[in-house]
Amino acid sequence: MPLDVHIIECLEDNYAYLLRCANSGRTVIVDTPDPDKILEEAGKIGWDIDEIWNTHHHWDHAGGNDKIREATGAKVVAAASEADKIGHVDRMVSHGDYLRVGENEAEVLDVGGHTSGHVAFYFGGADTVFTGDTLFNLGCGRMFEGDPEQFLTSLQRLKHLPGATSVYCGHEYTVKNGEFALTVDPDNTLLQAYVQMAKEKRARNEPTVPSTIRAERGANPFLRWDDPVLRSRLNMDEARDAEVFAELRRRKDAF
Ligand SMILES: [Zn+2]
Repeated sequence: MPLDVHIIECLEDNYAYLLRCANSGRTVIVDTPDPDKILEEAGKIGWDIDEIWNTHHHWDHAGGNDKIREATGAKVVAAASEADKIGHVDRMVSHGDYLRVGENEAEVLDVGGHTSGHVAFYFGGADTVFTGDTLFNLGCGRMFEGDPEQFLTSLQRLKHLPGATSVYCGHEYTVKNGEFALTVDPDNTLLQAYVQMAKEKRARNEPTVPSTIRAERGANPFLRWDDPVLRSRLNMDEARDAEVFAELRRRKDAF
């Protein structure tokens, strides 16, 4: 199905995404970091926002909801478990629910760990997923509310999506994430090439999104907890997957 994605760079390093069904014209904004910028961009390309979908409750993802709602009459869709924190949610969703952008169907995936009720939006027919602050290019979000088991389950869910799936995440952190990734997986040639490409894109002021699930599986240490070389480098050959994840997260927090 035809799903158009318009990337909007917001604030320091946030991304919001305008999605539009090319046939019906139905339009959704994924996250609302900078409502003025989003309304301006939507106006420029002539897309009328029908719905707001929030990946999680943080202010730089849901803080612009009210302004966009007031300007457009858009309905707000968010995880039931985060609705109280977000405020004024018209439709509450949870894992396994389906949403639509015109003819495009999206499955709601529970990907808690950064926040406990974080969700991703997976368009199987359009090979596209919006991962918010759960999975970044070459990284993952900080573990503010969840625990390692929960975060690992969420990352497993994303890792098992088809390799060709385009990944649109919530922040432009790729180069910094890549520098960390090279400290734990320095001999990974896929990672080396990925970081080089990301640096070149950023030097041209281009976004590094979207990535793909395949590229992340090959290079993102937070999807490689079961890789023997990475485990050996951490001296964690026999550790449980969640312990490897937790160690990677701990090292990244201190990086
Ligand atoms: Zn966040």
